[in-house]
Amino acid sequence: MACAPRIEINLAKIAHNAAALVALYGIKNIGLMGVTKAVCGAPEVAKVLLDEGFSMLADSKVVNLKKMKEAGLKADLVLLRAPALSEIDTVIKYADISLNTELSVIEKLSEEALKNHLVHKIIVMIEMGDLREGIMPATLETFIEKVVKLEGIKIVGIGVNFACFGGVKPNNAKMNELSLLATMIQTKFALPLSIVSGGNSANYNWFINATDVTKVNNLRLGESIYLGRETLNRQVIPGLYTDAFTLITEVIEAKIKPSMPYGEIGQNAFGEVPEFRDRGIMNRIILGIGKQDVLVSGLTPLLDIEILGSSSDHMVLNAKESKLQVGDEVTFNLNYGALLSIMTSPYVYKKYSHAL
Ligand SMILES: *Cc1c(COP(=O)(O)O)cnc(C)c1O
Repeated sequence: MACAPRIEINLAKIAHNAAALVALYGIKNIGLMGVTKAVCGAPEVAKVLLDEGFSMLADSKVVNLKKMKEAGLKADLVLLRAPALSEIDTVIKYADISLNTELSVIEKLSEEALKNHLVHKIIVMIEMGDLREGIMPATLETFIEKVVKLEGIKIVGIGVNFACFGGVKPNNAKMNELSLLATMIQTKFALPLSIVSGGNSANYNWFINATDVTKVNNLRLGESIYLGRETLNRQVIPGLYTDAFTLITEVIEAKIKPSMPYGEIGQNAFGEVPEFRDRGIMNRIILGIGKQDVLVSGLTPLLDIEILGSSSDHMVLNAKESKLQVGDEVTFNLNYGALLSIMTSPYVYKKYSHAL
């Protein structure tokens, strides 16, 4: 019997999505970074992205860049999360490009780059309303003025991030603003700025409707590749697969039980006092997976069954009329949070397949 729980990763579907997105965004000359953090930098997946036309791979963790570099993948490796002061040596070693917002960090990158006789490339992230990372636009000019003086550092682009923290939408106005900042830097500092990175999978609707993408020439895509969706409304992008990843779990108990807990009620394993409705006697199953492995709220069963709740390592379901028995496998579709958690769990076996 195959090992469960496991995530089945369909590389053919990922390849299809990757190629389709490269072609789509290419129509308006937008290049793409393949963001690998949702798959923890898995070289199997990264290789597919390179085969389908991506040349830049981006991840928020240096260990994932290291994994890809050591797998021998030929790509520009981009560190997506601004480096911490304490990790500069590994950033210089494994990232060709990093996203930055702090002068003190870039100074340290400069020192370390010089020590290693190399030039480290950076993309300066600009704040435009989502209120995660980025320097305020009003301070951009003085910031760039200081950075261009640092040896061993080359500013290759500017970037902005949307819909991650504040839920702010990337739209024409925001993209124009970014484009104008690019023009300002290009003229004032005679910097070519080969990358003007307008956002992530949330930029799809802007892109589709834009008659002029301005100077924006790059997006950083994760979720669209893996789950086939844009991320403002989680709409499916036409022609893409949404089921390249599926979770397979195994039934470890199947019994007819009451639907209401009985006895004196206190806190559960996660410090909550759960509430239940009496729905009479119920066909219940337990699956051998729980909160330690997966964001349970991000799972959708393919069968007509219902998740009732979970503890660290058990998931309890109303099996309804499914007739599921011990040893049976139960399959789920995943959202981004579920994908991220499962790929990160060492307890879920990763099974790659190559056939559609
Ligand atoms: C995660 C991340 C992305 C990718 O976002 P998706 O919604 O998965 O496309 C892009 N840029 C940055 C800075 C990120 O942290």
